[in-house]
Amino acid sequence: MNTAKRLLTLAESLGCSAKENEPMSLHTTFKIGGKAKLFIKVNSKENFRTLLLKAKDFGMPINVIGNGSNMLVTDDDIDAVFFQLSGGEFDEIKLIDDTTIVCGAGVSLAKLCLFACENSLTGLEFAYGIPALLGGAVFMNSGAYNGEIGNVIVSCTHITPNGEFQTLPKSALDFSYRNSAYKSNGCYVTDVMIKLCKGNKSEINDKMKDYMARRRDKQPLEFPSAGSVFKRPENHFAGALIEQCGLKGKTIGGAQISRKHAGFIINIGNATCADVLDLIEFTRNTVLAETGVELEPEVLLIK
Ligand SMILES: Cc1cc2nc3c(=O)[nH]c(=O)nc-3n(C[C@H](O)[C@H](O)[C@H](O)COP(=O)(O)OP(=O)(O)OC[C@H]3O[C@@H](n4cnc5c(N)ncnc54)[C@H](O)[C@@H]3O)c2cc1C
Repeated sequence: MNTAKRLLTLAESLGCSAKENEPMSLHTTFKIGGKAKLFIKVNSKENFRTLLLKAKDFGMPINVIGNGSNMLVTDDDIDAVFFQLSGGEFDEIKLIDDTTIVCGAGVSLAKLCLFACENSLTGLEFAYGIPALLGGAVFMNSGAYNGEIGNVIVSCTHITPNGEFQTLPKSALDFSYRNSAYKSNGCYVTDVMIKLCKGNKSEINDKMKDYMARRRDKQPLEFPSAGSVFKRPENHFAGALIEQCGLKGKTIGGAQISRKHAGFIINIGNATCADVLDLIEFTRNTVLAETGVELEPEVLLIK
C-alpha cells in the first residue's frame, strides 16, 4: 500500500473523512486548483496530532486549509496532504466568562460573530462577512473596517511541527497588517481565546448588517474570488490604483479584474491558476509603470 493510502486508512479508522485525488477547486472560494493527493477533514486535536506525525513520518508534504478564501492553488496535481479542521472540538464555541470566548479553529467567522452578537458582545462586528475559518483568519490577521482579528485575541493554542500543543499569548504572536507569527513558525492553530466587551445586542446586529450590506454593494460577491488580491500599499488603495490605470474589466482567460471593485480578480468561468497569475503580473507591471507603486499580493499561492 502506498503512503497516501496508508494515511487515508488511518484517517478513516479515526473517524475522519478522507479523499484521494481531491480537486482543490472544490475547497477554494476562487474555485481553482488541481487535485490534492489526499484531503482529510480532521475532527479532533488528538487525531490531528496522530495524522500530522504520521504524514511527517511518511515524508508527505503537509498543508492546512481553512475555508480556502485566500488561496490560489496551482492547476497541477499536488503531491501533498491537505488537512481541514472540521467538526468535533474544532467547531466548538464556549463562553468562559462574561466577555471571554474560547473557540475551535474550524469555526467560521460568521458563526463566531453571530455567537458574539447573541451574547451581546461587541468587538467582532468587522469580521462578519469575511469568509474565513478562525484558524485562517488568525494566520492572515484578517481585518476590515478598522478592525483586525489580532486585536481581540488573548491567546492561541497550536500544534507544533513536532506534535506538541502550546498556548501563546497575543504578545508572542506578532500580529501586524495581514501578518502573524503563523506565517513563519510552522505551527497550526487549534483553538483561540478571544476577549470582547459587553455591548447592546441590537446595535451589534445593526453594525454587522451594515458591514455586510456595504460588502454586497461594493464587492463582486456573485463571482468566485479570493477577495482583495493585493495588500494595501502605504498611503494608497490597491483598487483605486488599478482603476486609475484603466484596468477594470481586463481579462486573461477566465480571470478578470472586477468591474465592481478593481481590487478583486474574479473567476468568470473556468479560470485557471495560470490565468490569475498572468493577470496579477500584468496588473503589477502596469500599476508600477504608471504610478510607481509596487503592489504586493495578499493572496497566497499554493503549489
Ligand atoms: C469575498 C471575499 C471577501 C474577503 N474579505 C476580506 C476582508 O475583508 N478582510 C480580509 O482580511 N480578508 C478578506 N478576504 C480574504 C480571506 O477571507 C482572508 O484572508 C481569510 O483570513 C482567509 O481565511 P481562510 O480560513 O479561508 O484561510 P485559507 O485561505 O484556507 O488559508 C490561508 C492561510 O492560512 C493558513 N491556515 C489556515 N488554517 C490554519 C490553521 N488552523 N493554523 C495555521 N494556519 C492556517 C493556510 O495554510 C494558508 O496559508 C476575503 C475573501 C473573499 C473571497
